[in-house]
Amino acid sequence: MDSDIQLLLQLQELDQHISNTEKLLDQIPREIEKLKKQKEDLIYRFEKIHTDLKRLEALKREKELDIQTYEDRILKIQDALDKVRTNEEYKALLREKAQAEEAIMEIEDEILAIMEDIEALQKEEEKLKESIEEEKEKIQEKIEDKEKEIEQLRQKLEELKDKRETLIKQIKAPLLSKYEMIKKKRGTALAVVDSDTCTGCYLIIPPKIYSSLVKGEKLLTCPHCGRFLVYEPK
Ligand SMILES: [Zn+2]
Repeated sequence: MDSDIQLLLQLQELDQHISNTEKLLDQIPREIEKLKKQKEDLIYRFEKIHTDLKRLEALKREKELDIQTYEDRILKIQDALDKVRTNEEYKALLREKAQAEEAIMEIEDEILAIMEDIEALQKEEEKLKESIEEEKEKIQEKIEDKEKEIEQLRQKLEELKDKRETLIKQIKAPLLSKYEMIKKKRGTALAVVDSDTCTGCYLIIPPKIYSSLVKGEKLLTCPHCGRFLVYEPK
């Protein structure tokens, strides 16, 4: 194969490595951010259970005080019932007592529901308490792995760029600038010919160009996409 084309092929391969490495370097910090968010969410969830529990316990105490108030009132009604004189008064007091008793029953149901919620939250809290440290550690390890990966990729990128600097010194300036121009426009500057098709644009190469390629003519480009054609004899 023509040595110019060979150098360009090496350059294209290097450029693809560089581009892949840069993509990873762009992507990994976002993955780290996601992991940090996961860790924060975990801590937040744990704290939220704690504050929810506090709130429910306060609510339960409030409801218990309400019951106490109704019970006090029932005692007072009881006293009044002993001293009552008219039938009307008696009936009114009994009605009031029944209402207070009903209110107590309702509040007791509410307290039961609150207690069920508290129990469920306590179970969740206990479960999370056991696993949270381990979970946090696991996420932290993943973050550190990713940070290490970034370091390695940065180093690799430096090396690839050094290699590129060395390589392009071997390529003639006009050829290099043509390469850069096509690469900028098309993403890649070289395309292998498969049968009579350019694998850059997947269009058929005119027979005249194809036979020149087969004969070994150098640095021909695809008339459709402009890429350098790489012919590999079978
Ligand atoms: Zn093409």
